[in-house]
Amino acid sequence: MFDIRSFYEAKSVEDAVDALVRDENAEIISGGTDVLIRVREGRDAGRSLVSIHNIKELKGVRLLENGDLSIGAGTSFSHITNDPLIQKYIPMLGEAVDTVGGPQIRNTGTIGGNICNGATSADSASTMCTLDADILLEGPEGRRIVPIASFYTGPGRTVRERTEVCTCFLIHRESYEGWHGHYIKYGKRKAMEIATLGCAVRVKLSEDKRTIEDVRLGYGVAGPTPLRCKKAEELLRGCLVTDQEAVGEFARMAVTEVNPRSSWRASKEFRLQLIEELPKRALAEAVKKAGGIINA
Ligand SMILES: Cc1cc2nc3c(=O)[nH]c(=O)nc-3n(C[C@H](O)[C@H](O)[C@H](O)COP(=O)(O)OP(=O)(O)OC[C@H]3O[C@@H](n4cnc5c(N)ncnc54)[C@H](O)[C@@H]3O)c2cc1C
Repeated sequence: MFDIRSFYEAKSVEDAVDALVRDENAEIISGGTDVLIRVREGRDAGRSLVSIHNIKELKGVRLLENGDLSIGAGTSFSHITNDPLIQKYIPMLGEAVDTVGGPQIRNTGTIGGNICNGATSADSASTMCTLDADILLEGPEGRRIVPIASFYTGPGRTVRERTEVCTCFLIHRESYEGWHGHYIKYGKRKAMEIATLGCAVRVKLSEDKRTIEDVRLGYGVAGPTPLRCKKAEELLRGCLVTDQEAVGEFARMAVTEVNPRSSWRASKEFRLQLIEELPKRALAEAVKKAGGIINA
């Protein structure tokens, strides 16, 4: 039994915002793969739900005139993985969300729910951090854009107001053109598993593929929120792809920028070991995808 006070099917984003303003007990439900679990467990029992599930404008991936990619917040994981624009420009995101749950969850769960639930373990989050995604929110006061770096405020918390609908994510052209990336989800098994640690690396190589022109490193479950390791990135910028010493320093620096905790899934010490090891592996894959040769 689901203890739900009321269920309202919004016809548009504006209609959803109005419904959220009208009822201070109301929260958004999109795919419902987090919300319904919380309702069933009693944590969100008795809430009013405003469904954005059938709002067409929230779904799909578009290439905008300026070259930016727009990903609708209501787009399901399986849509993202199979979308031709994602496959062409940011296959890493399609691969990352393909690690979520099982097929049923990937057909139902949305990227908007994955980012807005504020979970550090969200499988799309570390990749979205390395893409410097902008988050578009629409509420009673109008629209605003929040860079993902300022979106998370703590475990399960974000700057989004209860009455704001996340409409889409913008991936700017300069964050995907010429970049290649790889996401590693470490978990005890391959499917139906929340990440013990998630590691996302994106690289941009020089034209001759010998130098790391730019690099981005993001983690999930390495702290209370998804995060980037800017000092580690700085260390590796301009290094040769074959410079294993620099790669080692990059990974060791990352360890100084994180704050993992012990949980029943893994100890803090084990997570720190993963935090040092996984970026080396993800970097090697990203360089390979970019056409670089590490063991020349
Ligand atoms: C069996 C199972 C396995 C799972 N495995 C994984 C996994 O491996 N990796 C992983 O990352 N997650 C996993 N999840 C969690 C979940 O599937 C994802 O977080 C999913 O992305 C949530 O999306 P949703 O559309 O179902 O969100 P919902 O449950 O509808 O909403 C989640 C939260 O976000 C808010 N919200 C949703 N959409 C919007 C929006 N557009 N604007 C503003 N707020 C919004 C809701 O109010 C709610 O607080 C799993 C869940 C289950 C049940």
